[in-house]
Amino acid sequence: MGKKGKLCVLLLALALVFWTRGEELTAVDGPAEIAGDQPLVALTFDDGPRRSTTGELLDGLAERGVPATFFLIGELVPGNEDLVQRMEEEGHQIGIHTYDHVQLTGLNAADFSAQVDRTENVLAQAVGHGGFALRPPYGLIDNGVEKRSGSALILWSIDPEDWKYKDADRVAEHIVSRAADGDVILLHDIYPTSVAAALQVVDRLHEKGFLFVTVEEMARQRHVELVPGQVYRSFCP
Ligand SMILES: [Zn+2]
Repeated sequence: MGKKGKLCVLLLALALVFWTRGEELTAVDGPAEIAGDQPLVALTFDDGPRRSTTGELLDGLAERGVPATFFLIGELVPGNEDLVQRMEEEGHQIGIHTYDHVQLTGLNAADFSAQVDRTENVLAQAVGHGGFALRPPYGLIDNGVEKRSGSALILWSIDPEDWKYKDADRVAEHIVSRAADGDVILLHDIYPTSVAAALQVVDRLHEKGFLFVTVEEMARQRHVELVPGQVYRSFCP
């Protein structure tokens, strides 16, 4: 090989190194790279974790590189700590959906704490930190809930009623036909049909140019401060 040949090989090697590094940086810096005009949506899942369905959903989301937000039931965490830890490790947001799925309105301070603080403790033990958003069951909120909640109250802007129809195509169509920038989508990761619908939605909205983010990331990108006790339904501009 002549001098020119060696130089070519060297340049090619250098180019490869920089190209590979560039790829790595893009992956790690993901959220910071979001273009200002790219439509964002947040997938949120309530009522889990359930081993038979949540694991499959996490597999599908990981394959697609998509983060989501999970509002968990405290009493379902023991025995499923590995699923919760997997959510944390794979970049999902974890939130509270009460300890045994009761309506939070009308509760006194002790009963509220037994539902919310107890779940916060169970989750903190599983992942090693606190600071979880709260989604009250049925979206029911009163002054007591607003006053007692130590975190933001996250509702939704798209509800396909997946628990009622249990029909992946119908649920996916409901979401895809309505999704707009800033929407928060409500699903339940305890039904196989909802898992199938969610992955279908990811693929179809990716084709339309949407980017999936956690609720926290959505708020950050839209410069919205998440205030404890305040209600958020969407982050539409
Ligand atoms: Zn629920």
